[in-house]
Amino acid sequence: MSRSPVASARLTSSVPLLAPRPPLFLALIAHLLLLGYALFVFTRGFLLSRIALPDVSSCSNSPVPGSWPSPPSSQSSSAPVGCWSSRPPPYKHALILLVDALRFDFTLYDPSLSEPIPPYRNKLPIMQHLLDTQPRRALRYQFLADPPTTTLQRLKALSTGTLPTFIDAGSNFGGSSILEDSWLTQAALANRSASFVGDDTWLSLFPDVFRLSHPYPSLNVWDLHTVDEGVLAHLPSMMESKEDTILLGHFLGVDHCGHRHGPSHPAMAAKLKQMNTVLTDILASIDNDTIVFIFGDHGMDGKGDHGGDSRSELEAALFIYSGRDLDERGEEFDHLLRDMDQQRSHRSVAQVDLVPTLAMALGLPIPFGSLGSIIPEI
Ligand SMILES: [Zn+2]
Repeated sequence: MSRSPVASARLTSSVPLLAPRPPLFLALIAHLLLLGYALFVFTRGFLLSRIALPDVSSCSNSPVPGSWPSPPSSQSSSAPVGCWSSRPPPYKHALILLVDALRFDFTLYDPSLSEPIPPYRNKLPIMQHLLDTQPRRALRYQFLADPPTTTLQRLKALSTGTLPTFIDAGSNFGGSSILEDSWLTQAALANRSASFVGDDTWLSLFPDVFRLSHPYPSLNVWDLHTVDEGVLAHLPSMMESKEDTILLGHFLGVDHCGHRHGPSHPAMAAKLKQMNTVLTDILASIDNDTIVFIFGDHGMDGKGDHGGDSRSELEAALFIYSGRDLDERGEEFDHLLRDMDQQRSHRSVAQVDLVPTLAMALGLPIPFGSLGSIIPEI
């Protein structure tokens, strides 16, 4: 059957409509390429990323060649010589007590405050008591975190002295192990042991470095006590053994209390009072070869949350207690103390400053990627 001329004409005119239109197809390809390029720029540039350096510091590899004494192995004297320092290591042991989310103002004590005061104020009097009664052994600082103020990123910064990135923030609840140089790496290289009890995040970051470890689950923020009770169960015997150069205890109750109730809740008062009792007992048993660092990894906002860069989230507390007087540096230290008294304000140090300070206190090389400064009073 032959088509009518009209039908043939319709068919002929419809053929160009079914064929691909080159300009539209090219526009689609160009759009996809542009999208891919934008995604590449976003992931590589907008979101900060960084390269983890594989380098590891060593005593024999001074950062400033010629300006430091020879490493201990080449010293003729039998006296111990610190790494990168002309003086012996100041301490044999470091006790690190991380009170998660210990905001700076939680550690203040002012009996002249009139009621009503917030539930978190005046509940940790032990720190002010030691600052008043043993000013040459105790120091307190605002301990400033770099955002993001999340525990995993803070632990990386506090152990390696580096700055975390926002890509890291996405992995807060599933941290992979740290391969960069840290004070735990340095202790292991020097055949000095470290043990740990508390928040199990440390084990995901450092799965192989601890002589003893007692990890407790960290993700149930409604649980205010399990991790803290675990620390209290093991820490006394670990301290007594004196086998470790570094002993690490990570309390989590204050942080979880913030998440569950916020800081302005009677439960926070009770938790801080418990911490006060714990710290009082521990600090009473410190010998003169030990230095104690008690600090928060971040603060918390008015609702008890953290992660951002508000002042209340960034301002954690650092309390340092030495088993012996810190005045061995003589006039310089006295001058510094006088200055601090005159200023009547609290000194601030960066959280990354813990890394070189701890390393030098123990006579270890400062981890390779460390960006902080040594706290001069130590
Ligand atoms: Zn938290």
